[in-house]
Amino acid sequence: MRYVSTRDPSHAVSLSAAIARGLAPDGGLYVPEQFPTIDPATFGPDASLPHVAALLLAPFFAGDALEPELGAICRESLSFPVPLKDLREGTAVLELFHGPTAAFKDVGARFLAACLSRIAAEDERALTILVATSGDTGGAVAAAFHGRPGVEVAVLYPAGMVSARQEKQLTAWGGNVRAFAVRGDFDACQRLVKAAMAHPELRARRRMSSANSINVGRLLPQVAYYAWASLEYRRRHGADPGFIVPSGNLGNAAAASWSRRVGMPVREVVLATNANLAITRFLSGQPWSPQPTVSTLATAMDVGSASNMERLLHLFGGEEGTRSALRAFLVDDNEIRRVIREGPGTWGEVWDPHTATAVAVRERLETRDWIVVSTAHPAKFESVVEPLIGREIPIPPDLAHLLDRPSHATPIEPDLDTFIAALEAP
Ligand SMILES: *Cc1c(COP(=O)(O)O)cnc(C)c1O
Repeated sequence: MRYVSTRDPSHAVSLSAAIARGLAPDGGLYVPEQFPTIDPATFGPDASLPHVAALLLAPFFAGDALEPELGAICRESLSFPVPLKDLREGTAVLELFHGPTAAFKDVGARFLAACLSRIAAEDERALTILVATSGDTGGAVAAAFHGRPGVEVAVLYPAGMVSARQEKQLTAWGGNVRAFAVRGDFDACQRLVKAAMAHPELRARRRMSSANSINVGRLLPQVAYYAWASLEYRRRHGADPGFIVPSGNLGNAAAASWSRRVGMPVREVVLATNANLAITRFLSGQPWSPQPTVSTLATAMDVGSASNMERLLHLFGGEEGTRSALRAFLVDDNEIRRVIREGPGTWGEVWDPHTATAVAVRERLETRDWIVVSTAHPAKFESVVEPLIGREIPIPPDLAHLLDRPSHATPIEPDLDTFIAALEAP
């Protein structure tokens, strides 16, 4: 399988090259040259997630240097529980937050780390992973690479603009993970990463890669959990489920759509957004156009310009095709609050603000057989959730462990020379 740029089908590379590069040289995103068709009967009735992932992803790894490692990569990275819980007649929830940093980004980050460290082994120079984060991604990437030999991680985050628990997940690792508190916003962090990766002398000294969310190595394992959950739902209930996906940068939505494309029993993909309206505006008939970002309670979905829209437009053959394939619903902060407040009574669940957008959409839909995709543990957003439900949320053990560790971050100005000096300081 070769991977092409969404902007230029004649630029084709191997999977390993697509993962090592992240972004195509023309600024496009890598997508498979063509999608395989996979018969759901391929999977046994009780197949585990790592087993489904290894079978499903085999055609995506075919012919690549990583192909013989695929089984090991799946077992190593998909090693935490991903339960599909039936809530009530016609509704289930897929809990993606049982990994080390309690959000679904652990899945993609761990799979990417497992791939990159195997690609890294073939080069003498140490690998530096640069990651700019607005909160969740940096922690997941740090956790995934912490303690791996031959890899160094630099996390850049906007000082004072992440939650206290998120900051712990960025700064409490030590060892091969270093955190830089940038005096600027998320865009400033992203600019520093791009500039560092393009800096000729730095590139001569270090092999660098970026673990941002447009890397195809983060998307592929997400395709696998949609496959596993749709097969499991059909096995239990004899019906094909639709997925309701809390969406920001649209990576999770692209993965769900790819799963449907390869033949998995995914009836429909519905997007839940917060008050950032670029996606709903587009699907209701306006041309695709990024909008200024607004701040909401579901911070990880505060995206005005979703990068993975490019993959959806590519998959569905343009704007009209995308509109006929997908529906999206906007959920504002008032509704997020209401759903969290009523969660224990209505569903017997404590929802985080991101999952709450999907639950709000479920409550609006009258048909049945829906899987709500739960992207984060509510304890990560306790300052929002606890006042609404009137009690404390128990902290998952991995998060509790990290909260007890000392933090360390290097404060820097948003300036390339300053960053390079700090990165290279002994
Ligand atoms: C990143 C994130 C999202 C948005 O996912 P996309 O793939 O960017 O659409 C939703 N919920 C949580 C908790 C996240 O961290």
